[in-house]
Amino acid sequence: MKINFNQLDRGYFKYQNEYDLAVLQTLKSGWYILGKNVERFESEFADFIGTKFCVGLNSGLDALILAFRALGVGIGDEVIVPANTYIASVLGITENGATPVFVEPDHYFNLDDNRIEEKITKNTKAILVVHLYGQAANMKRIKEIANRNKLYLIEDCAQSHGAKFENRTTGAWGDIGCFSFYPTKNIGAFGDSGAIVTDNPLIYEKIKMLRNYGSKIKYHNEILGVNSRLDEIQAAILSVKLSHYNQLQKEREKISRRYLDEIKNEFIKLPKIRENAGHVWHLFVIRTDDRKKLQKYLTDHEIGTQIHYPIPPHLSKAYDFLGHKQGNLTITENYADTVISLPLYEGMTEAEVSYVINIINEYEG
Ligand SMILES: *Cc1c(COP(=O)(O)O)cnc(C)c1O
Repeated sequence: MKINFNQLDRGYFKYQNEYDLAVLQTLKSGWYILGKNVERFESEFADFIGTKFCVGLNSGLDALILAFRALGVGIGDEVIVPANTYIASVLGITENGATPVFVEPDHYFNLDDNRIEEKITKNTKAILVVHLYGQAANMKRIKEIANRNKLYLIEDCAQSHGAKFENRTTGAWGDIGCFSFYPTKNIGAFGDSGAIVTDNPLIYEKIKMLRNYGSKIKYHNEILGVNSRLDEIQAAILSVKLSHYNQLQKEREKISRRYLDEIKNEFIKLPKIRENAGHVWHLFVIRTDDRKKLQKYLTDHEIGTQIHYPIPPHLSKAYDFLGHKQGNLTITENYADTVISLPLYEGMTEAEVSYVINIINEYEG
C-alpha cells in the first residue's frame, strides 16, 4: 500500500460540488477583489474564533508581518519567539527590523512559559506565541506574563485553527491572532491566503488599510501599505471549508486517536498532550533517536513522512547575521534532529491508518 504524506485532492473531492459552485458563482459575478465573499468569510471567521474582527490577507506570513507593523514593533525592539517553530514566525519579526529573542520549547513542542521572563529586557515589546502542530500553548500563564510586563501578545495560529486553551480559542487570547490558510493547513484554501483576528477596532482599521496600499478610500493613501488582499475565489472556498470544520476536525481527531492508542514501539516517542490545551492535530509528530533509519524504513514501505522542521530558524543560513551557533538552544536542536511527522489528512482511510500503525509497530529500531 502506498501512502503519501499528504493527498490534497481528497479534500477537494469530498465537497467537490460545493467548491465548484462557490468558484463558478464567483467567476460569473464579475467581482474578484474585496467583495462580498471576503466580507462574509471575515465575519464567519471572526465568529468562529470569537473575536470582533477579522481581516483577510494574502498569506500567513503577511498576517505576521502586518501584525507587528500595525503595533509599531520595529527597529530596536525585541520580540520573544519560540526557537522551535517554522521560520515564517521569525520572518514576521525581522521583516519589520525587530530582533527575535529565541526561547526553548517545553515537552509539548511549544514556547516554555518558565523560560520567558529571563529573556525580557527594556527593549522587549512583544511575545509571539506559536501553537505548534495544532496544540495550544500555555496561554493563561503566557497572557499573565505579557500583561504583567506590558508586552503585546501576538499568536501565530497557522497550525491551530479552532484549538482552544481552556474555553478560549487560540487567536482570541492575544492582541492579534495570525492565521494561514495554505492548502495543507487544517482550514486550507486552494491557493495562498491568510488572515488576522482581533478585538481592537484600531488594529482592525490599521491592518485593513495596510493590506490595501495604506488606503481606506481608493487613491487616498494615508500610510505606507502593501498589497495583501484575500481574493474573492479563495474566500468563497474558505467559507465552504469552514462550514465543514466540525466534520473535518473529527476526522483528524479519529486518525490521531488511533495513532496514540495503537502505536506501540519502544523506539517511538508519541506526542504529549497538555491538560486544558486543545489539540487540532495539524501534524502528528513523533520522535525517535535514529530518525534517518526510521524514515528510510517507512520510505521502503511506501509511507510518506516529512520533518517539521530539520533546521531551526536560529541555525538557518538566512539568520547567520544574528550570530547564533549550534549548541545555543539544545532542546530545540534536539527536536530538530529527532522529530518526524506521519501521514494525517482529510480523506485518509481506516485501512491506510491501520497500515501505517502496523508497519511502525513492526519497526525494530
Ligand atoms: C504555514 C505557517 C506560516 C506561514 O503561512 P503562509 O500562509 O505559508 O505564509 C506561519 N507560521 C507557521 C507556524 C506556519 O505553519
